[in-house]
Parts: sequence; C-alpha cells; structure tokens
Amino acid sequence: MRPESLYPLFRPVTALSGVGPRLGTLVTRVAGPNLVDLLWTLPHGLIDWRQVSTINTAEPGARVMLELTIGEHQPPRVPSQPYRIRANDQTSFIDLTFFRPKKDYLDKTFPTGATLRVGGRIEIYNDRPQMAHPEKVMTMADAANSSGIDVIYPLTEGLPPKVMAKAAHGAVAQAPQLPEWQNAAWLARNRWPAWHEALHSVHFPQSMAEIDPATPARQRLAYDELLASQLALAIVRGRMRALPGRTVPPAPQLRQQALAALPFTLTPAQEAALQELDTAMASGGRMLRLLQGDVGSGKTAVAFLAMTGLWALGAQTALMAPTEVLARQHAANLKIWADRAGIRMALLTGREKGEPREAILHALSTGAIQLLVGTHALISEDVAFKDLGLVIIDEQHRFGVHQRLALGAKAVRPPHVIVMTATPIPRSLALAHFGDMEMTRITGKPPGREPVETKALSLARIEDVIAAVARVVSRGERVFWVCPLVEENEAIDAAAVEMRHAALAQRFPGQVGLLHGRLKPAEKDRAIAAFKSGDIAILVATTVIEVGVDVPAATLMVIEHAERFGLAQLHQLRGRVGRGSAPSACILLYQAPLGETARARIHCLRQTDDGFQIAEEDLRLRGPGELLGQRQSGMEVFRMARLEAHSTLLSAAYDDARLIMATDPELRSARGQALRILLYLFQRDEAVRTLRAG
Ligand code: ADP
Ligand code: MG
Repeated sequence: MRPESLYPLFRPVTALSGVGPRLGTLVTRVAGPNLVDLLWTLPHGLIDWRQVSTINTAEPGARVMLELTIGEHQPPRVPSQPYRIRANDQTSFIDLTFFRPKKDYLDKTFPTGATLRVGGRIEIYNDRPQMAHPEKVMTMADAANSSGIDVIYPLTEGLPPKVMAKAAHGAVAQAPQLPEWQNAAWLARNRWPAWHEALHSVHFPQSMAEIDPATPARQRLAYDELLASQLALAIVRGRMRALPGRTVPPAPQLRQQALAALPFTLTPAQEAALQELDTAMASGGRMLRLLQGDVGSGKTAVAFLAMTGLWALGAQTALMAPTEVLARQHAANLKIWADRAGIRMALLTGREKGEPREAILHALSTGAIQLLVGTHALISEDVAFKDLGLVIIDEQHRFGVHQRLALGAKAVRPPHVIVMTATPIPRSLALAHFGDMEMTRITGKPPGREPVETKALSLARIEDVIAAVARVVSRGERVFWVCPLVEENEAIDAAAVEMRHAALAQRFPGQVGLLHGRLKPAEKDRAIAAFKSGDIAILVATTVIEVGVDVPAATLMVIEHAERFGLAQLHQLRGRVGRGSAPSACILLYQAPLGETARARIHCLRQTDDGFQIAEEDLRLRGPGELLGQRQSGMEVFRMARLEAHSTLLSAAYDDARLIMATDPELRSARGQALRILLYLFQRDEAVRTLRAG
C-alpha cells in the first residue's frame, strides 16, 4: 500500500485549483495524470523580468520589462487596425498594441493613470516604439510580491504557459516533507540538497544555469530516480534468484529432433549462445537472461532449441511477441519447425476468440500444447498453463518490467526467462533497463548474407528512387517503402502513408500494398501475405514493419524522411532487407538540409552494419530532446535522469542498490523504510509488493 504521506501527490492534476477537466487533459498530455507527474516535469527555460529598463535604452526586438504610466486608450477606427494604449516612462512614450482586443480586459488591466510593470518585446513602428501584446503585466503590488521570474515548462497546443507553470508550482507546494532515503555521506560528498529543497530549486530556477542537468538539485533528483529503478530491479531480481529454478537436464534426443527440423545448421555463434542458455538452465538456479543479437542473427532458432529440455520434462514453453504481426510470423515459422520436431504449438492473440480460444486454453491447461506463441494476450487473467517452464520474450524493449513479471507469475514454479532483443543495447542502457540481468550475445549473422548497400538521397531526387524501385520490381524482387511517424497521432500518420501509397500505386498499378497501425488486423495480415507471396511487389508501411517482418525476396528498403528516425530504428529497418541471397540496398530519403545529428546518423549507418557499434553511437547522438523516440520504442522513460548526462550516476545507483540488498534486503532499517517511500514515489509498487511477498 502506498504510504499516506504520498496520497496528495497521487491525486489527478484536476485536484489543483485552476485546473478543470479541459485544462486537466492538456496538463496530463504534457506531464502525466497525477500531481507527482508534474513534479517530474521540469522547466526548460525561464524569463527573467527582474531588471527594469527604459524605453529609450531598450534594443528593438529585445524582451524588456518597463515601468509605465498608462495613458489614453485608442480603440481602432477600422477593425483591421490594432487597439492602442498610450503609455510612457520618464524617458519616452510607447504604444501598447492589441489585435482583436477584448475591451473589458484591457480596461480592467490597463486603467488610465495607473503605474504598471509591462514586459514584452519592443519594436519600432512608424518611428515609434511599440509593444504588441505584452507578455507580462503586473501592478506595482504584484511586482513587489513576485519573484519576477517566469518559468517555462513544456507545453502542448492550447495550454497557456501560465497555467502550466501554476500547475507545476501547485504540485510542488503539495510535495510533503519525506524522510531522507539517500545515504547522508553520499549526499554530503556530492553537496546535494534534500529532496524537498531539490524539488523547489529545479522548479524555481533563478537563472538559465540552474536549468542544466549538472546542477546539484537536478543530479539529486536524477539519482533518486535511478536508485528507485535500480533498487526495484535488484529486489525483483534478488527474489527471482532466491527462488530455486527448475534444473533442466540435456535432452539429446529431442534436441536432435529439433535440430533436424531446422532447414540449416547453426552458426558457431548460435551454438555458443545455445550452450550458455543450456548451462544456465541446468545450473539449478533461475535463469533470467537477455539474448542479444543483431537483426537477422538467428535468435529465434536458438530460442526454439533452448526449449527442448523443457519439453523433455513435460513442461511448456511460451513465446511472447510485441505485435500481432510479429506473433503471427513467429507462429508461422515455428509451426513448421515444431511440426517436424513433433511438438504441438498453438497461437494465441487478442484475435483468437470464442470456441477456438476455449480449445486452446483447455489444451494449455492439460499440457497438450507444448509451445504457445502470442502477444500479450498470453498474460491475460484466464490463460492458465499446466506447467510453464520457459518464457521467451521477443523484442523486449517494447514490454515493461511489469509485463515480464506478470507472465512469470503464471507458473506454478517460476519459469526461466529469455528476453530476445534485436536492438543491441549499449551497456549503460542495458544496466539502466535490465539491472544485472545476465546476457548472451549472438555475434555476426548466418552465412550467405550480403551486406546491404546504403545510400542517402535528398527527397528532391525521389524520381531517381522511383526509377530504382521500378528496376527492382522488374527483377521480380520486393520493395519496402517506409514512411515515418509524423506525430503521435495515428490519423495523421496514416494519412501520410496513404498519400505515398496512392502516389506509388499510380506508378505501379496493382502492385502496391499498404500497412499501418490503423488497419484492421485482418487487413494487415492480408497486406503482409500478399507481399510475401509476391501478389504485390511494394509495401508502403509505417514502422509497424520494424520489428521483424521477414520477407527474403525484399531487396530494397526505402526510408522516407530518414532524418526523423533514430539510428537504432534505421538499423532495424535496414535489417528487413538483405535476408535473402540477392544483393540488397537501403535508400535513406531525407529532407534537405540535414541537421548535424541526422548527418551523423546517416554517416554511421553507411560505415557499419554492426548493431552493437550502432547502438553505442545512437546513445551518444541521442539528445535529451529525443526522449519521444525512446518512449515510442517502449523503453522505460526516465523523467529526471538523462542517461547521456547522468551515466556515472547510473553506475553509482547500481552499486548502491546492490549494497542495500546486501545489507538490508527487507528494507527494514530507517533508511530502508525511507527507500520504500522512494519506490512508491517512483511508482515501483510492484517491487515493494515483491518485498512483502518474500
Ligand atoms: P533474428 O530474430 O535474430 O532477427 P531470425 O531468428 O529471425 O533472426 O533469423 C533470421 C533468418 O535467418 C530466418 O529466416 C532464419 O530462419 C534464418 N537463420 C537462422 N539461423 C540460421 C543459420 N544458422 N543458417 C541459415 N539461416 C539461418
Ligand atoms: Mg526475430
């Protein structure tokens, strides 16, 4: 149960005065649903109004604060003219101008004869100084009570800056005094303020310098967040380790059958990875392991073979994929292998309903189904396995820790877990997101793959690209054409893809298919099937295809607006071609001029095909502004911590969490009790529950 001291922070943002349902929706869009989310939404700028200037010294275009005596109001004679209010200070006259004025408001705010502080940008119009739509107006009494600094928060359309700042500051005012959860010596050594003070200081910066992630207050809050995350991981991980794992002895005969079911032999890298998994599952401990390997490195085959020992014991295995498309594709491939190996496999997604679903659930509960493939429908309440022994999660970074735990909870005995990720994760990120989960890496790729030739072309040369598409199609090969997510708005994205689809369909009648997130599942299946079978030669898609649509005949990948994609994502997309034996190419179509980061990304992609190297470079290039991309990828999003800026804090938090688990595993000491509050504060409730269950 969440401690009572945190209740005020877990109220919806509409609990703040001045935030009703309409503004509440906007504030939630920017920050999140609760007051606590506002605490984690930090200002990225400020306007300092403390310095008062004079009219005749102010630079045109500069933002200034003036102390003005308000003169005559001059309503416009024609509506296209602005409403003018004459004003002056001791140096000169100025016009305050307003288009589409609200007269009541102006009368009330600017009474003739009053002395006011008025801030905004000065311009010269017809040789006279004027200020259009002042940004800030204060009475002298207001000015005496105000800090004179406006803090700028992230915004969304329709949300006035003032409202957002007031909401954030309102949330800070509700922040309770909490016991210190950080080690006192560590705080002192870093000269970090206490939590409450740190919050106050990040939300009321006095200068731009205080907005830097390196300020003690921001570091402290980042560290709080990282520690909460590392501690939660350590608790869950510790609990899992403490549980005895099922010892899985080698099952040579079934393994032989499974190997024989594959149409290829394993590469040495795959064999080495399989060996590591075998060893981990035979050790008597519980396995929780990340299986990392580049796109196309052959993780699925390794995962399939890793299942054999469990089947030999009569236990079941599950493979969970992040999307319907991917689950179906896995199922299609695995079905062939499973049939040949004599294993019964079933597919379960949100689309299996009614009787077929009942039949699957029944066969699962009796143990008749040995391998279940699906989406997160696998973790819905009513799915009960007879004896789940191994869970394999594909493309892990689209799931959260909670989902992983939920699936684990399905088993009578906790299952072994393998998490497959096709995005090689840099060490620092792996640490942040997975703690000390063990790792197995598959390096290199199966033989017979030619490197993908990568070209960058400006959108102005789209006709050349279309000519290239025509050549590929005439050879009987296939083309992916990827359009980017324009916004976090499926309708707009769909429109962009549909437009491209229409344009290409005109050039290549009857040969162009369409795939995006708004299509009905059956329509998606149809598009993919038609593309695979060759009924269509070109598939125009959003990044739905990113996570692993496997079409060996596809030899050209066109990525439109490549500058909008992250590096790892481009690498993933490029990995969709070059899967067959024919030479393949990837064309990065970009909108000129290219920014520096986009240029660096494209350069990196042309230099290397090594996913691990690309991942490191991706992290280096990724600025704090690109959190959105991170969110889209489903990685845990840190609110306070900036991994580029705070990576040393991350390792410290990792060590700290281990030390805490070693000395106070139940979090019973005074610091331990405070750490429980920290876990709740960062919504790691699951971890605290785990603690209690133990
Ligand atoms: P990943 O999931 O790592 O991206 P997959 O497991 O989907 O890669 O494998 C990519 C393709 O390579 C699949 O078509 C798979 O059947 C094939 N493959 C896997 N291992 C080998 C191998 N050792 N030799 C040849 N082809 C392989
Ligand atoms: Mg795969």
